[in-house]
Amino acid sequence: MESDILKFICANQGAVDTDYLVSNLGCSVSDIICNQEKFASCLPFGQPKVVVRTSLRLCRAKACEGSCGGLHLCKSFLFSGFCQFSQSRKGCYFSHELSSDYNERILKEHGLNILSRTELCTLLLQSDDRLLPPVSFVSCFTLKFCLCLTPMSCQVLSLRCV
Ligand SMILES: [Zn+2]
Ligand SMILES: [Zn+2]
Repeated sequence: MESDILKFICANQGAVDTDYLVSNLGCSVSDIICNQEKFASCLPFGQPKVVVRTSLRLCRAKACEGSCGGLHLCKSFLFSGFCQFSQSRKGCYFSHELSSDYNERILKEHGLNILSRTELCTLLLQSDDRLLPPVSFVSCFTLKFCLCLTPMSCQVLSLRCV
């Protein structure tokens, strides 16, 4: 059930109105968000929403043996399914294989192996500020919710671009 909710929210840009979740899934909000590693409640513009988050991070090391616990995936590939460096002579330093044995294991540990690349992208973007590209690359707007430690009392809704 938890993974269904996670997937559902990821497929909906990472945040869903709390009322909508409760009326469609028939469970209480406290049941949904009791796993605070994965879910948080927030109140942007007075509208209660459940947002997803994860402690999983992309590994940044170019030659990592795998002790980082992070996902081994190229950032461009994660964002778009395409990487400009894969065409170049040197190739890309990072993996383009989401379903490698290593990544499968890491995703499973975090309960994220059910997510598609785009759903995972939404989740990681929302959870890791370092992934946001510089403003000069902005092509469209996405709402990014504050994931501070006191989300219920936090009114911050930061508008960020991806
Ligand atoms: Zn690593
Ligand atoms: Zn790449």
